[in-house]
Amino acid sequence: MSEIIDQYRITTEPYYLPIADEVELYEAAYSVRMPMMLKGPTGCGKTRFVEHMAWKLKKPLITVACNEDMTASDLVGRFLLDAKGTYWQDGPLAIAARYGAICYLDEIVEARQDTTVVIHPLTDNRRVLPLEKKGELLHAHADFQIVISYNPGYQSLMKDLKQSTKQRFGGLDFNYPEHDTESEIVAHETGVSLDIAEKLVSIAERARNLKGHGLDEGISTRMLIYAGSLIVKNIDAHAACRVALVRPITDDPDMRDALDAAVTTFF
Ligand code: ADP
Repeated sequence: MSEIIDQYRITTEPYYLPIADEVELYEAAYSVRMPMMLKGPTGCGKTRFVEHMAWKLKKPLITVACNEDMTASDLVGRFLLDAKGTYWQDGPLAIAARYGAICYLDEIVEARQDTTVVIHPLTDNRRVLPLEKKGELLHAHADFQIVISYNPGYQSLMKDLKQSTKQRFGGLDFNYPEHDTESEIVAHETGVSLDIAEKLVSIAERARNLKGHGLDEGISTRMLIYAGSLIVKNIDAHAACRVALVRPITDDPDMRDALDAAVTTFF
């Protein structure tokens, strides 16, 4: 059985630069197995953080990218058919609960509400997962913890978590790191010089100020890392920024001009 869960163990330390006291807070939350909600814009380090914490706590990590087509069975499990007949296959949530992993449900808000509710009995003191089709009430392993990510900018009336779901979690706020920290991250992840990393971060800061004024989302740390990775491949900085920073976030010609101008200011 251990080989099922061993594939989810993280053996080398995922690089993570702490932003505030999130590492200590998470450790305390894990020690009481509090379900956690990591809140913040896309590409700001939530996934990397949970990978780092799973490594630090020496727990396997099972990550599920949620989407609107995902059903409760995709999480919990289903009967499958092969030459020998039908057999039960645990879904990722059931594997995590059975063997004691951290289960990270990324962008949970994308999942339909009838899917989201399957996590409820795992998030209160019952810590159980009913496998209804199989007729099993799975009691979660002592090491099991559930973590979800949530981008507050994305919610709308149609797509938001129910209060009854939200209130089952402790919340940690994430945001793009401040200038020096983000520059260090970009330099570390890509191999560009600190000087170039700082310029990339400065462009992102300009773009983030335009959020809500024509841009839905700012330029994320992830996008800066894409730009830096192109620059280390000897792509001209203007072209790298156009491809990795400007084109993906807007189709509006005026906004593109404004962002291209920011790139020219720094490079
Ligand atoms: P999210 O899950 O919030 O969408 P990610 O965790 O995938 O974002 O972050 C995108 C990338 O940014 C990561 O792969 C990592 O390279 C980098 N990153 C962001 N914040 C940090 C941080 N604090 N320490 C180290 N790397 C970071």
